[in-house]
Amino acid sequence: MLLEIITIGDELLIGQTIDTNSAWLGKICNENGLVVNRITSISDKATEITNALNDAYTRVELVIITGGLGPTKDDITKHVLCKYFETNLVRNKAVLAKIEAYFSSYSRPMLEVNRQQADLPKDAIILHNELGTASGMWFSKDGKQCISLPGVPYEMKGLMQNEVLPKLNKLGSSVFHKHILSSGVGESWLAEMLKDWEVEVSRAGYNLAYLPTPGFVKLRISCYNASTQDVKRIEQFAQIIPTLIGDYFVGFDMNNLPAALMKIAVDNSVSISFAESCTGGRLSGDFVKQAGVSECYKGAIVAYSNQIKTDVLKINKEVLEKHGPVSEQVVVEMAKASKNILSSDFSLATSGVAGPNGGSVDTPIGLVWFSIATPLG
Ligand code: AMP
Ligand code: MG
Repeated sequence: MLLEIITIGDELLIGQTIDTNSAWLGKICNENGLVVNRITSISDKATEITNALNDAYTRVELVIITGGLGPTKDDITKHVLCKYFETNLVRNKAVLAKIEAYFSSYSRPMLEVNRQQADLPKDAIILHNELGTASGMWFSKDGKQCISLPGVPYEMKGLMQNEVLPKLNKLGSSVFHKHILSSGVGESWLAEMLKDWEVEVSRAGYNLAYLPTPGFVKLRISCYNASTQDVKRIEQFAQIIPTLIGDYFVGFDMNNLPAALMKIAVDNSVSISFAESCTGGRLSGDFVKQAGVSECYKGAIVAYSNQIKTDVLKINKEVLEKHGPVSEQVVVEMAKASKNILSSDFSLATSGVAGPNGGSVDTPIGLVWFSIATPLG
């Protein structure tokens, strides 16, 4: 099923709030076999909302909107949608009772604008918001459907998961994606190596996407309305990749380097630790985002200052003074020290000049030393 997403809010257009709603909605729709055709962000203006809806309905029959459902004057979505779908507001007693209970649970006084959040369109399905006071609304008229959700991300997600997806899933279809992660080669070279294979994939009716990120190119083979036969066929296509691209192949169904590192560590029953200077804990932060990382991760020492390098990592003061913290000698000692202190099989250390200040001729901004201590040295 094809749909479009419209995110409403002046704050989205001036970079004050990053539109995370559409990214999250796009992902969850895709996982549920719903195809997002377009994402549009617009201001809190009646004409913009109306024009965006008219425009979207020339391409699709279903639109999901977020934003503009708050109690303040700038939130106009509900009124505009009522006009658009030719219905009017009536006070919903059940919703009013919930809003009153919500305010009394926080011992907060209630204003008329809060009560007005219980004024909901007569001809729309009301989607109950367990996490806030703005209800979602599902309009349906002349083959046009519009699901209006609050802008607050956790409220929008709650409504989508509890109220919208169970209903939409009945309309959706299955989608199958196979991901192949590669590293060390640019997308044009990768495409060159996969030229003939790509022709076969496309001939079989599957979509192929190259998704480059710094250091990696992810390949995605997709099939909508996938049968078990399609899934089998796509798996067969994927299994050919390691032979075609050799050492550039990292793994299947991994999103990023931390996921790849975790898989390799767990498969080989080895443990990992970090000693981080310039990365300040970001390696650790990225690594622990992977579910199941505790099977291989020991921890990190964030040795940002020279004092921590000497006091905690026991880096020799003379080595530190002679070569400076951003040096091959120091980063090698850091990796060895954290491997020992954190009792891990492997440890990765970083030390560099991140900028914007602090560079010199010998250690310019951007210079980063890495060292990996392994069981073999
Ligand atoms: P609203 O429903 O328009 O009153 O939005 C309430 C709050 O949700 C805003 O102040 C924003 O911080 C946040 N918000 C609205 N739209 C988005 C969006 N598309 N992505 C992320 N946050 C949003
Ligand atoms: Mg708003």
